[in-house]
Amino acid sequence: MSTTPEPGLSNFIADKIRADNASDKFGGRVLTRFPPEPNGYLHIGHVKSICLNFGLARDFAAGCNLRFDDTNPAAEEQEYVDAIESDVHWLGFEWAGKYFASDYFEQIYLWAERLDELGKAYVDELSPEQIAEYRGDYHRPGKASPFRDRSVDENLRLLRAMRAGEFDEGKAVLRAKIDVNHPNMNLRDPVLYRVKKAHHHRTGDAWCIYPMYDYAHPLSDAVEGITHSICTLEFADHRPFYDWCIQTVDTPYKPEQTEFARLKLTYTVLSKRKLLQLVNDGLVDGWDDPRMPTIRGMRRRGVPPSALRELASRVGVSKADSWIDVSILEACIRDDLDATSARAMAVIDGLPITLTNYAPFTATLQNHPKKPELGSRTVTLTETIYVEREDFEEAPAKGFFRLFPGNWVRLRGAGFVRVDGVTKDLGGVITGLTATWHAPIEGNEGPGGGKVKGTIHWVPSDSPVVEVRLYDRLFTAEHPDSDDWKSHLNPKGKVVVTTARVEPSLANAAPGTRYQFERVGFFALDEVDTKPGKPVWNRVITLKDSWAKEKK
Ligand code: ATP
Ligand code: MG
Repeated sequence: MSTTPEPGLSNFIADKIRADNASDKFGGRVLTRFPPEPNGYLHIGHVKSICLNFGLARDFAAGCNLRFDDTNPAAEEQEYVDAIESDVHWLGFEWAGKYFASDYFEQIYLWAERLDELGKAYVDELSPEQIAEYRGDYHRPGKASPFRDRSVDENLRLLRAMRAGEFDEGKAVLRAKIDVNHPNMNLRDPVLYRVKKAHHHRTGDAWCIYPMYDYAHPLSDAVEGITHSICTLEFADHRPFYDWCIQTVDTPYKPEQTEFARLKLTYTVLSKRKLLQLVNDGLVDGWDDPRMPTIRGMRRRGVPPSALRELASRVGVSKADSWIDVSILEACIRDDLDATSARAMAVIDGLPITLTNYAPFTATLQNHPKKPELGSRTVTLTETIYVEREDFEEAPAKGFFRLFPGNWVRLRGAGFVRVDGVTKDLGGVITGLTATWHAPIEGNEGPGGGKVKGTIHWVPSDSPVVEVRLYDRLFTAEHPDSDDWKSHLNPKGKVVVTTARVEPSLANAAPGTRYQFERVGFFALDEVDTKPGKPVWNRVITLKDSWAKEKK
């Protein structure tokens, strides 16, 4: 768990709950809900909503329901239900109750009959196009449907006929009777039910009419006894209809809707529709591709759940939309992993060095510079070792303190090395180095006297060869939201190296384990593609923000 306080007690919604408790509005009860539609995988935007709803429940010693808003049978699937449950659990939250809007279809329908009886709803047989035409828009007044003034009995008969399957799709809808010319378009006699002859993933073929989201949602909240129904800002204009449903139906519980700003993150997309396109077009390797902003993807990449909760905390809850720079998420991940993950050595692009005066030596290395409780491990020097190719320069620029001919450099935990010779192939590419080794010396001086400025990491020759996947931001554009958003995919978002080496102590690491590969980045052992003897390491995040300087 992160050490910073999580969201909840210090935001305007918490203030509202405190005020409601003080005025006894809900009889001292607090119950929130997280209401995903099971039509895709959860993404980092949902994390904000989950942390807020479950966080408030925790802070007020109350409950938060997980409710699947499954009112649109066409797009919904059990696969998504299962994934959402597992993702919420992985984030560290437990629901008070798990429900489905479809559990309430009968109740919601009976309430529609009640609206009929109250003269507050009518069956409209205009075509969908006519309904849109009659509704008008912000500049054009609406006009009443010729079916608006049907009798209660006729409306009831027709609603029951709709339910019995006697109308084809598009031939009839049930509408609320509010005001055809209301300045808020959402109140111009909104549709409550439409005919949809589709198989539902839970109710099967029991229904051929389905309630609209805006009608089903407040009533589902009411059935569960939700007190604070929290949603994103674009629903603010829908709130009057939310209240209309609760007041007109006169549900026993009277939940209230409050809106907050949705999370908008740079260098990625957060719409299920777009994420689905990336998957379907094969532009990413599925919903759990480590570049995806889905919980699945981030989890597979090696992002710890505490880092995502920390992002929700740092971003806070506000009433105004704003962009959050993805570097804030990256910093949360970096800070978390820096504090928690053990260190190890790995060489991504290896250059062999033969130690001409090799003598057996075993380095003892602390697993974490600030956490002695994480212990230490040993790495045994071999006659040939591998270092990072970029740590050697044959003709170094001024200020380069790493390997170049004649220069002593510290080998992490294992003394010093000085390059004496360079081997090249016919094309002039460096294929190896020869060097003199020196055992560790107390104090700051190197073997040649004077200070040794550079320290490099290395691995011995018996290090396993592994695949590493160097992940980076999904898009190169800060706001990939234009028509050609897909053209901004980062071609370097995934770079695969099959010839990296990790120190032998990592040979039997458990999938999912995270390490800081010193000087290289934070990595996690992939839980899907790692096979016995064939490890795959995912780069979770670089050590430093390499995008900060590029942006200038
Ligand atoms: P999308 O637009 O990606 O399809 P959605 O809003 O339709 O997302 P739902 O499954 O309906 O997805 O969302 C469940 C809950 O998560 C809702 O309460 C919604 O307001 C919230 N939510 C979705 N996206 C975000 C976001 N970017 N920031 C904060 N909350 C979000
Ligand atoms: Mg939605």
